[in-house]
Amino acid sequence: MAWMSSGRTNAELIDKMSRNGLINSSQVAEAMRKVDRKNYVPDTAYAYEDSPQRIGFGATISAPHMHAHACENLLSFLPVADSPHTGAILDVGSGSGYLTAVLHHLAPHSVVVGIDHIQGLVDQSIINLKKDGIPLGPGEDGRGGVMMICGDGRNGSPKYAPFSIIHVGAAAPIIPEPLIDQLAKPGRMFIPVGEGTQDIWQIDKSQSGEITKTKLFGVRYVPLTDANKQWSS
Ligand code: SAH
Repeated sequence: MAWMSSGRTNAELIDKMSRNGLINSSQVAEAMRKVDRKNYVPDTAYAYEDSPQRIGFGATISAPHMHAHACENLLSFLPVADSPHTGAILDVGSGSGYLTAVLHHLAPHSVVVGIDHIQGLVDQSIINLKKDGIPLGPGEDGRGGVMMICGDGRNGSPKYAPFSIIHVGAAAPIIPEPLIDQLAKPGRMFIPVGEGTQDIWQIDKSQSGEITKTKLFGVRYVPLTDANKQWSS
């Protein structure tokens, strides 16, 4: 199903994914339409295939249908006007910056923080986001803005916490405690967990701070690990 959704243009990719039931929310379709995947991949010939692609440093840009699933799962926790969600958004293992960009379009007035532990990937993601027309740093009106930082995402980002949404783009052997601590009340984390077999877990923190963990579906992600284990230059 996933492979049937490839297109010749970004718009065609999104249209086919919608038709094939891989995107079910018009809000997510609209945000993904604004992010041209060719700005985030090294081989633009395959930009509009619904498949992962290597981006160097032992990392991959995920397939668009995985990005769509993640966004749809997180949608009800978006910090947007008239919602109870006031925290920022954290994208751990931001890699190419693609999903950070989609999250920015979903919540344009929020702070969206992308964190990756490989400086070369952070530098490239900043180039990618600029090419895609996304300004970095605080928003012009003093609200929101996209920040790309280099660091160990297992520690989250205390500076920008709490987060209404945490997306983790690499599989953790165990759910890092600092990420649970940095979830806002309420907040939701979407995180692949496991070594060998991996599953997406949805971690919800309620308004009173109660944690609920729900296993969603099986996946294959790059591990959430030490920088030198992933890549030694
Ligand atoms: N969502 C990204 C996924 C990139 S692959 C995209 O689609 O482009 C997973 C990313 O997690 C890699 O870029 C890798 O460098 C990063 N990563 C792995 N372990 C990490 C850690 N401990 N801290 C921060 N980033 C990490």
